[in-house]
This record gives sequence, C-alpha cells and structure tokens, in this order.
Amino acid sequence: MWSFDTDPAFQAQLDWMMNFVKTQVEPLDYRFPGHGAPYDVDNKESRAAIKPLQEEVRKRGLWACHLGPHLRGPGYGQVKLGLMNEILGRAYWAPTVFGTAAPDTGNAEILAMFGTDDQKARYLQPLMEGDIVSCFSMTEPQAGADPKEFVCQAWQEGNEWVIEGEKWFSSNARYAEFLIVMAVTNPDNPPHGRMSMFVVPAKTPGVEFIRNVKVMGDDHAGDGGIHGYMRYNRVRVPLDAMLGAPGEGFKVAQARLGGGRVHHAMRTVGKCQRALDMMVERANSRRSHGKLLAEHQFVQGMIADSAIELEQFRLLVMKTAWAIDEVEAGRTPAASPRTLIAMCKVQMAKVYHDIVQRAIQLHGSLGVTLELPLAEWWGGVMSLALADGPTEVHKVQVAKSLLRNGPVAPGLFPSEHIPTRMEQAA
Ligand SMILES: Cc1cc2nc3c(=O)[nH]c(=O)nc-3n(C[C@H](O)[C@H](O)[C@H](O)COP(=O)(O)OP(=O)(O)OC[C@H]3O[C@@H](n4cnc5c(N)ncnc54)[C@H](O)[C@@H]3O)c2cc1C
Repeated sequence: MWSFDTDPAFQAQLDWMMNFVKTQVEPLDYRFPGHGAPYDVDNKESRAAIKPLQEEVRKRGLWACHLGPHLRGPGYGQVKLGLMNEILGRAYWAPTVFGTAAPDTGNAEILAMFGTDDQKARYLQPLMEGDIVSCFSMTEPQAGADPKEFVCQAWQEGNEWVIEGEKWFSSNARYAEFLIVMAVTNPDNPPHGRMSMFVVPAKTPGVEFIRNVKVMGDDHAGDGGIHGYMRYNRVRVPLDAMLGAPGEGFKVAQARLGGGRVHHAMRTVGKCQRALDMMVERANSRRSHGKLLAEHQFVQGMIADSAIELEQFRLLVMKTAWAIDEVEAGRTPAASPRTLIAMCKVQMAKVYHDIVQRAIQLHGSLGVTLELPLAEWWGGVMSLALADGPTEVHKVQVAKSLLRNGPVAPGLFPSEHIPTRMEQAA
C-alpha cells in the first residue's frame, strides 16, 4: 500500500515542533552563533538558555527520538524521525535542544550496542541526557576515504591497550568528554579485520590537540574551529575500553555511520526548504526591469527547479527511512537500505549545492554577504560532499550494488537488439 499521509496526532506534534523551532530555537543561532556553540557544554549562559527548552521537548515526548524504548527513547522509527529531522534541520541548535545532535547520536548507538555496563553508566547515560558531548575520531591526516590506509595503532601491554598515532577532523573533540578512536590492532588480518574501536576519556594522559581546524563557513564563529587534529601519544586505556571484539572496528563504524548519514539527509531537506522559502519571499518582494522578480521566467525556473529537486530528494530520503523501518520490523524491503543510504548521501550534497546557489543568486549582492545565513550555508556545501565519506565512494557503492546482480548480454548483441527481437517476435 502506498500512502503519503501523516497521522493527525503525529502531525499535531510536527506542527508544535515547527512553531517551537521557529520561535524558540532559531533565535539561539543568533544569540549563541558558531558551529561549535551547541557542543560547548561549559558555556553556562547557553546551557541555562536551552535547559527549559529541553524540558519542554521532554514533556512533549520528543526528546532523543532516534532512540528506541530500550534506551528510554520513544522509538518512533525512521519515517517519523525523518519528518521531525526536516524541522530540526532549520537551526544549528535544534538537534541539541531535541537530544539528537551528531555525532553523539551515532556514538550513543554504538555504546548501547557494544559498551560495557560501566561505559554505559559513565558515558551513555549523560550523553543521552545531553549533559556531555562526544567525538568520533577515525579519519587520519594521510587517509580518510579509505580506512584501510589507516595507521594509528593500538597494542596490548598487560591489562591495558596503548594507542599511538594521529587523527584528523575529530569534530568537537575540544568539547568532548570522550573520544571513540579507531586503531589498527590486528595488522596481519585481512584489511577489514585489522582495526578496533576504543572509548578514550578526553582527559587521558597523552591525548594531545595538535590544533583545531577551521572550515569554510566558520567565519561567523570566532571560536577557532571545531575539528581536532589529534595526536594519541601512547594513550593507555583498560582492556574493556574496546568496543566490540578485536578486529571488529569496521563493523562498529558501519553500525554507526549508516544512521548518521540518513539523519544528515533528513536535516538537509529542512535546510533546503528554508533556502527555498527565502527564494520565494525574495521573488515576491524585489523588483527589477519593471516587474517583480517573481514575474521573470528565469526566476520562476530557478524556483521550480529547486522545488522539484527538493521533492525528489525528500521522497528518496523518506523511502530510505521506510526501508530501514522495514528491516527493523524483520521484513525485507524491495530496496536495500544500504544502497538507498548511499544514494541519499550523494544526492544530499548535490541538491543542497544547487538550491543554496540559486538562493544566493536570487538575493544578489546581499546573498553573498554575511548578513544572510546563505553565505554560511554555502560554506557547508562541500563538507556535505565529504563528511561521512566522499560522494565518489558512495556512488561506487550504488553502482556496485546494481552491477553485482545485474544481467549480462545473452550473446554478441545486447538483449534489446532490435533485429534479434524482430526475429524472435516473428
Ligand atoms: C565538516 C567535516 C566534518 C568531519 N567530521 C569528522 C569526524 O567527526 N570524525 C572523523 O573521523 N572524520 C570526520 N571528517 C572526515 C571525513 O570523513 C573525510 O573528510 C572523508 O572521509 C574523506 O577523507 P579525506 O578528507 O582524507 O579525503 P581523501 O581520502 O584524501 O579523498 C580525497 C578525494 O579523493 C577522491 N576519492 C577518494 N577515494 C575515491 C574513490 N574510491 N573513488 C573515486 N574518488 C575517490 C574524492 O574526490 C575525495 O574527495 C569530517 C569531514 C568534514 C568535511
């Protein structure tokens, strides 16, 4: 059965969320600006401002909706989460106010799946309460897209693991209570069995910040960049700091990144919608060459292309969410969630690029200033095509999944060869 309806009770929740985010949460982006601001748990002023908002979200039963009931979340599933994340994508602070900020969501999931009782009590609980934040430290200075090139290593000494090596783009490390670090532990295994994942408390001796790296779009922030270039100098952690078994690092990473990617895509739908809303407002308000921009066909084309691309992308994201829910429910959807997630990852960067570019163009000189959010969003365009793996790698995954089970020509000519088909038809 195909249905694009939202049940009325849940729609009422979404309506409440939209109003709440627009009136209560979006102002936080202006009061406490900067990509790192929502993660700075030591900023007493911003924490005092969000506490009552978080309480309200909890009362509505909308806190940490990515978590299932076993982790005290409502377990709405990915389709409902998709509709919610579209709204949360409007504001940088919104995921923090609703307890769904990355990378903490993914890190919470792997702690829940692979952590010990002690780690869960020490880290998972406060992470879910929004009292601490965390970091995922996987990419290395010499390799990112292909984790098989990683060299940061860990070895066992007595009842400890010792971690040695460098990591690059460890986002939010400067605010994190703990870091999840991937390191080579079994160098002689086949490539996908060489690495393991560790929980490393940020204050462990030997955890060094080489520097914090700024990216395009951080100009607003003035907070010195949030992407940690890290060095682990013989960092010692207990044996049970390992998440999963030795050599299972890839498995643990995959469990985490799949969900994260689709959640980014859901939030990107919301950001694109906001850019499209800005285009419509501008077109309806600004005059050029004797008429409103809205009356120029080029402008109508820009708005139509943006709306069509966004609708297509949104449908892909929602279908992906549905497929994940089907697998969770023990059914087998017609399309593999893994391939769909890779499609979302690719398309997210493209649609965001196209829509934000058109929105800037329609706002003319004002569009490129720092007086609108568009310039900052534009700064994030390329990050969407890189973070969680570059577009090319995801395209390869999509293509391989099609090619793997695809047909081979029956003979010298393709199966659609017209003379052959005519002969068969006769
Ligand atoms: C904003 C942001 C936040 C991030 N946060 C984190 C984080 O918190 N933790 C973390 O561990 N990492 C993080 N990353 C790192 C991110 O995962 C890597 O940037 C990404 O995996 C690519 O690795 P790389 O930058 O080393 O690029 P490289 O691996 O050097 O690749 C460079 C380019 O080569 C091409 N390429 C690579 N492989 C292929 C291929 N198989 N086929 C075709 N072309 C290819 C692509 O064009 C690619 O962009 C973040 C990155 C960004 C931009």
